[in-house]
Amino acid sequence: MNIRILEKDENSIKFILEDVDVAFTNSLRRIILAEVPTMAIDDVIIIENSSPLFDEIIAHRLGLIPLKTDLDAYVLPEKCECGGEGCANCQVALTLEVEATDGPMTVYSGHLKSQDPKIVPVSEKIPIVKLAKGQKLVLEAYARLGQGKEHAKWQPVSVAAYKYLPIINLDYEKCDQCGACVEACPREILELKNGELVIGDVFNCNLCKSCEEACDLEAIKISFDDRTFIFTIEGTGVLPPERILEEAVKILAEKADQLIEEMEKVKGT
Ligand SMILES: [Zn+2]
Repeated sequence: MNIRILEKDENSIKFILEDVDVAFTNSLRRIILAEVPTMAIDDVIIIENSSPLFDEIIAHRLGLIPLKTDLDAYVLPEKCECGGEGCANCQVALTLEVEATDGPMTVYSGHLKSQDPKIVPVSEKIPIVKLAKGQKLVLEAYARLGQGKEHAKWQPVSVAAYKYLPIINLDYEKCDQCGACVEACPREILELKNGELVIGDVFNCNLCKSCEEACDLEAIKISFDDRTFIFTIEGTGVLPPERILEEAVKILAEKADQLIEEMEKVKGT
């Protein structure tokens, strides 16, 4: 297996995964979505709420706020020494106290005060509720690590997807440079340059085969490499994308070890 990074920024990563099969690639995708833990608010105690929204709606909105996650300092409650009751190793308290004294205002994620300066909302500008003059919202919230398989609020990514590496085969002897394929391609990959057909960014091809259909001379053929994948991860900002991938690989390796262990047991009996 080989990994080649194509693009990377603060929240997303695009890479080529070579010499693996689709089952492996899909396992990685599913682990990223469902098993890499992140922090999210899971318990809310409403102390005062004179806002126009019910307590439950506010609690639900708080749960969906992405929180920056520190996987080195916290553990999943089910793996914690406290047995999941909630302690400093598995839980963070956040408080919010806002009163609209000077007129209507919006309560934002930035109003949440966290006990741990590392566990804070990814953005301070996520609206929670609008208050009219004199209305008040006071609450205590508890965030914990969780997994996407339990609730989507714990998913570390908004996108985890892959596609086969496209292969564009051009028969220069058959091609008469009519430009029909250039017109047909929705991704604008093909181009006519000085009377010659030029293939641009192959990674951008979505295998739609419109060019193939447009070509009467069968000069262009689209196929794909079923052992090479273009993988895209778009994080929500809770963890750096490379850390998400690293954690997913770690979880997959643990699962493989577990399987081997169980197989050994079966063989031993
Ligand atoms: Zn604990």
